[in-house]
Amino acid sequence: MNIKVIAFDADDTLWVNEPYFRQTEERFCELLSDYLSRHDLERELLTIEIANLALYGYGIKGFILSMIEAAMKITNNTLSVEVIGQIIDLGKQMLNQPIELLEGVEDVLKQLKDKYRLVVATKGDLLDQERKLRKSGINHYFHHIEIMSEKDDANYLKLIKHLDIRPEELLMIGNSLKSDVMPVLNVGGHAVHVPYHITWAHEQIEHTIDNERFKSLDTITDILAFL
Ligand SMILES: [Mg+2]
Repeated sequence: MNIKVIAFDADDTLWVNEPYFRQTEERFCELLSDYLSRHDLERELLTIEIANLALYGYGIKGFILSMIEAAMKITNNTLSVEVIGQIIDLGKQMLNQPIELLEGVEDVLKQLKDKYRLVVATKGDLLDQERKLRKSGINHYFHHIEIMSEKDDANYLKLIKHLDIRPEELLMIGNSLKSDVMPVLNVGGHAVHVPYHITWAHEQIEHTIDNERFKSLDTITDILAFL
């Protein structure tokens, strides 16, 4: 391997993210528990979230709008203004969460920063991701922050071009096979999967990856021995 740039996914790779969505989803289900079972409420919400991705993109703001839309549908448009207010508050609480770095992250960045160019490659809401990076205290380790609307082949190629490297000089580390691994392998880069204990349903894929440029590791710290 001749790696020059190591790109890190942010959510659930550098810091905790998905558990906050799950907690909020739980509160959402409590608010609407008179209407449907928890299972059906979750399914309605997920369907609307996915349908809205193309319009709103990833992130908390789109999630808030999807919760309101789902609640309107579930209550057959009889949703009270109070509940809409509570949903908006749930979203604002998410936006104001402190940043909780995952174990080993800062140590890994410290050890790699002089040997490689480190970048962040994330999707989601621009303002929210910038806020999280600022609050994370690890901003200074990174040469470049790429916030993509979608983590697909074309956007990874754009990043590689921007970094002025060859595809095989990029190593991407992330918790999502769908977003952090598959497209990077597709364009000729190296990818390391570090699973997180929970993954959003939309990011889950059933796939066995057989590729010499792919590696699955248990923790982010294992990257130090792998390189
Ligand atoms: Mg992630």
